Amino acid sequence: MEDLRQAIRTFGRGLGQDVVKVDMFLNHRIDTELVFEMGREFAEEFRDERPTVIMTVESSGIALALATAREMGNLPVVFAKKGETAVQSQDVAQAAVYSFTHKRENVIRVEKRYVPIGSRVLLIDDFLADGQAVQGMMELCRQLDAKIVGVGIAVEKGFQPGGAKLRAQGIHLKSLAVITGIEDGKIRMLEC
Ligand code: 5GP
Repeated sequence: MEDLRQAIRTFGRGLGQDVVKVDMFLNHRIDTELVFEMGREFAEEFRDERPTVIMTVESSGIALALATAREMGNLPVVFAKKGETAVQSQDVAQAAVYSFTHKRENVIRVEKRYVPIGSRVLLIDDFLADGQAVQGMMELCRQLDAKIVGVGIAVEKGFQPGGAKLRAQGIHLKSLAVITGIEDGKIRMLEC
């Protein structure tokens, strides 16, 4: 998506070899017009999958999920909450997720009553790196007896294995921008 790539070119910062900061328009300050444009792209890509729920993880995925849900006919958005300890409950689906950016394990959880059995779930997130966050949401969906119909990602870091793992599983994955590497703080992207 050209407007997203342009925002990454203009405002994105590479930290070390593998972290990309997009705080200016996505992770701290939100560019509303750009986020709703991303929502439209996801909606077009996944309309035929007929999702009934959009799922994301707090907090950076929420704006993107909301924009997508709005475009798909005001679908409900369920965001998995993060915590450090697991609570034992029949009513909660939960999974352990190792956080790439914070270098620690979080438990993500969703109350089962918010995702009815048989829901068709579209997963949305800001970044795809090793794929832990998405795999964690997939585990939630397994516990919820819900079907994953697609995964929409704003920024895939193509030099990390998450995208390849999902494609190998035959999952319908759409990444709006794909970063191929960071060299001396400069971000390289696929131009397509
Ligand atoms: P994964 O679970 O695929 O390894 O990493 C994805 C999650 O970690 C996303 O939810 C995102 O919040 C965070 N993340 C991974 N890489 C980056 C990055 O380069 N920049 C930022 N801002 N977040 C990242």
